[in-house]
Amino acid sequence: MPNFSCPDTVFEQAAQQFSTPFHLYSEKGIRERARLLNQAFSWCKDYKEYFAVKALPNPSILRILKEEGCGVDCSSETELMLAQGLGFSGNEIMFSANAMPNDEFTYARKLGATVNLDDITHIDILKSHGGIPECVCCRYNPGGSFKIGTFVMGNPGEAKYGFTYEQLREGLKKLKEYGATSFGLHAFLSSNTIDNAYYPTLARILLSCLKDLANETGLTPAFVNLSGGIGIPYQPQQEAPDVMKIGAEVQRVYNDIFPEGGIGIKTELGRWMTGPEGWLVTHAIHHKDTYRHYIGLDACAANLMRPAMYGAYHHITVCGKRNAPCDHIYDVTGSLCENNDKFAVERPLPEIQEGDIVVIHDTGAHGYSMGYNYNGRLRSSEVLWTENGDFRLIRRAETPKDYFSTLDIDEFYTDFQQIVENHA
Ligand SMILES: *Cc1c(COP(=O)(O)O)cnc(C)c1O
Repeated sequence: MPNFSCPDTVFEQAAQQFSTPFHLYSEKGIRERARLLNQAFSWCKDYKEYFAVKALPNPSILRILKEEGCGVDCSSETELMLAQGLGFSGNEIMFSANAMPNDEFTYARKLGATVNLDDITHIDILKSHGGIPECVCCRYNPGGSFKIGTFVMGNPGEAKYGFTYEQLREGLKKLKEYGATSFGLHAFLSSNTIDNAYYPTLARILLSCLKDLANETGLTPAFVNLSGGIGIPYQPQQEAPDVMKIGAEVQRVYNDIFPEGGIGIKTELGRWMTGPEGWLVTHAIHHKDTYRHYIGLDACAANLMRPAMYGAYHHITVCGKRNAPCDHIYDVTGSLCENNDKFAVERPLPEIQEGDIVVIHDTGAHGYSMGYNYNGRLRSSEVLWTENGDFRLIRRAETPKDYFSTLDIDEFYTDFQQIVENHA
């Protein structure tokens, strides 16, 4: 089930201090998850979690994770800038390549990041943009469909990521010619997976390929990167994955394939790390009864896109009404001129009045960061619920001035500058 550990009084206090909507994050919760994960893999001397920055790119959060011993997984110039600004360097940064501008390779190398190449063509790009380091990581795409037992978990054959096995063999030989001495392997084959077998299954694939490719190329096998993908229970009937058990199962696979040890394990969890420790706190501002019953919130898909984009389920509770019967069926909507701007469709909830605080759960990963500005809607603030129980504004809300700041406002619009200034 979702994380119900934050009491309504906390949402109410926060909403007194800051205008809604805002994302609220629990410092204590995030620290506890980081510690649990590090404990689950403590059997591996060379283990490191590289938090996927795209999940929650706020420096206050990244600093907390740094204090807990995590590194960062970056995939863009601005994510690398965040990492640099927070003092991450060298083996604390994983740079996951994709179809990105070549200069980003140079930047990643300048910071000493471990570079995870997505394609065989990236080898020559890296050579001319920052140079080939001693240890390089390559992303593997086994193609076809990815199964756990007989259950299809994902379709790598349709995914844009990674090298084929033949390309890995050829590419690693080339990397060796260019001066690399060791290598790691990465794959991300299934997203938001609550099945405990995901990492162990992936670890078996990656560790055996690592061994085979080391034999075939003469490079030293350094690590496998299990990437992200461990899921969270967004729905009340779902069970949380058991990270201690996952760690122990990966250890079993590891000992099977590399009984002599010496291989590192890396992870790049985003969703599992912070997802359940965030909540989008909103007010109900409208109701409407037509063919259905609608509750309109002061937040919209600009603040949390997952329901509109994937039809994703996010649990919703109403402050002060957790024990009230869910005897009303509502569509819970935002203000966008898009009919998919619904946080919930035909959801049984307690009766909601305008002014009620409505909390959307599990928004701590891929929530704020996936936001956008459609309809000129502005991004919300982010608030940290600190370990000592205070609330700290860790990002202010966007203003109209922010929204208009990238426009070229020529003389024709001289009044417009004034409108923006006066509006604030
Ligand atoms: C998105 C992403 C992650 C994190 O995924 P989660 O589902 O949030 O765990 C990790 N690594 C890479 C390369 C990614 O693109």
